[in-house]
Amino acid sequence: MKIIIAGVGAMGSRFALMLHQAQNDVLLVDGWQAHIDAIRKDGLRANFNGEEISAKMPIYHQEEVSKVDFSAELVILFTKVMQLEGMLQAIKPLVHKETKVLCLLNGIGHEDIIKKYVPLENVLLGNTMWTAGLEGPGKAKLFGNGSIDLQSLGTEGESAARPVLDVLNAAKLNAKYSENILSSIYKKACVNGTMNGLCTILDANMADFGETSVAEQIVEAIVSEFFAVAKAQNIELHHDEVMAQIYSCYNRETIGLHHPSMYQDLIINHRLTEIDYINGAIVRKGQQFNIPTPYCSFLTELVHAKEEILGAK
Ligand code: NAD
Repeated sequence: MKIIIAGVGAMGSRFALMLHQAQNDVLLVDGWQAHIDAIRKDGLRANFNGEEISAKMPIYHQEEVSKVDFSAELVILFTKVMQLEGMLQAIKPLVHKETKVLCLLNGIGHEDIIKKYVPLENVLLGNTMWTAGLEGPGKAKLFGNGSIDLQSLGTEGESAARPVLDVLNAAKLNAKYSENILSSIYKKACVNGTMNGLCTILDANMADFGETSVAEQIVEAIVSEFFAVAKAQNIELHHDEVMAQIYSCYNRETIGLHHPSMYQDLIINHRLTEIDYINGAIVRKGQQFNIPTPYCSFLTELVHAKEEILGAK
């Protein structure tokens, strides 16, 4: 399949490498010049489950794509949410009326941005449990296993998504169709909406936060705001299931000693965060449905204050 990876950071690199290994024709588009230069020079490199790998794939800066001759059958979006609209605008010349566009970004409400550029019939919205990191320009760190749930937003349902599911599965990306993707997206957003912002502001790993005397109270308060907003949209969530997933983050034997990705982005790399599309999205939806969201609002403001203090870009 002819595939564009639009945003070749940590996750885009994982998907690019796995889809390239499965013999797809993969074109990379990104906006970070040092990364593009490194990939042009040495290929896209990765530590892939302990093995050093690299692959040559064409890569273009998003400002250059109007010169590219590539008719994509599938675009996989993997920018940060703040970069999404700029990327969709940039790749417009490569997206034709049959191109499927898959969005697996964390956070809530991306379909509202994507539908300005792509007919809903072609949009696949999803959620992924794969993870990835970047070691520096041109090099990713890819460990572990994952999965993808996705749903077609058009009227054709699963049949519209089938060729994409087959391509993802041939690349061992473990994709399956979901009839209820918003529920999975909200469930994951509850985990990100607690662990990310709280560990970032408190300068704590997930286990240390989870063992504080107030962790349960704070997490319940935030999650109750996500649940109220989900309920107003008829999105079903199960309290015990969501809380079990959050509590599993505290386990020191598994992932508890890690800092969430927002911590890495803001505290370590001084990059802007996706808080406006996680807790901030709950605040906006809360205003729409007249639901108070004081915890999400406060956490969003604290993270923005930290971004300003650190001069995040
Ligand atoms: P990323 O920050 O690695 O990459 C996103 C974009 O930012 C890319 O275009 C990349 O080139 C650019 N970028 C990265 N580092 C940069 C730097 N130092 N300077 C300038 N530009 C830089 O993002 P990601 O982790 O791949 O995440 C993409 C989306 O997937 C997000 O919505 C994220 O929440 C979601 N997601 C991430 C993971 C994960 O484990 N990383 C897992 C699931 C979902």
